[in-house]
Amino acid sequence: MKERVPLVIANWKLHGGIDLLAGSIATLVRKKFAARIAVCPPYLYVREMVHFLGSSQIMVGTQNVSKYEAGAYTGETSAQLIAEAGAKLCLVGHSERRQMFNETDAACAIKVSRVLASGMMPILCIGENEQQREAGVTHDVLSRQLQNTLKDHSSEEKELLANKLVIAYEPVWAIGTGLAATPEDAQAVHEFIRSELAVLYGEETARKINILYGGSANKSNANELLGKPDIDGLLVGGASLDPEHFMQICLLANNYAESLQE
Ligand code: PEP
Repeated sequence: MKERVPLVIANWKLHGGIDLLAGSIATLVRKKFAARIAVCPPYLYVREMVHFLGSSQIMVGTQNVSKYEAGAYTGETSAQLIAEAGAKLCLVGHSERRQMFNETDAACAIKVSRVLASGMMPILCIGENEQQREAGVTHDVLSRQLQNTLKDHSSEEKELLANKLVIAYEPVWAIGTGLAATPEDAQAVHEFIRSELAVLYGEETARKINILYGGSANKSNANELLGKPDIDGLLVGGASLDPEHFMQICLLANNYAESLQE
């Protein structure tokens, strides 16, 4: 039996405008969920989404965050400003940022600290690319990403991380390709990630950390993925922009969340 409440996060990437985004969750706003649901719009819409979602339980997050606190950093947005706008979580190290914007593990480590200091949840994205998968070095890649990003936090930060950290396993070859990992393969990787978290934080804490799967998750594969013991939610890109589709995924996660309450 799982002890972690499932979390589903929509990554809306660089899509808009507000009518499309609000439309994709309009029906969700009126529902009560036992699962945790969040949406990550482009920065520009964070405040508007917080307002739109009002007293619903749906959280708002961002797709990125600056590693800087404040100062002459043109175009950057700090964790503090994001939190002030009402966001509750930030994605850190999404593979598109790693690939296209040269985001390093060292930068991710700073970003995780900034997000924690602002009281939000860091959603640390990790994953191997196709060549690494074919070369059989998936575990090495994930282990390195986790170690490099999480090993140097202070003991106070480690305590906060125990409560707030979420890992999103997103194999790069599965993102936006329609080729999701099989539930069995994803489960095996999630189990490995949890064992690495146990080395960093101890078994008890590792058991509490949500590990999400991302990469072509959709309403057809969500149920099987969510049914695996170490898959605690989904990070959803493309399918989250389709209202009916995203609703189905949230309802499936909700079934698992409700079964925890029984
Ligand atoms: C993502 O980019 O985080 C993602 C999971 O995308 P998709 O669901 O479209 O593969």
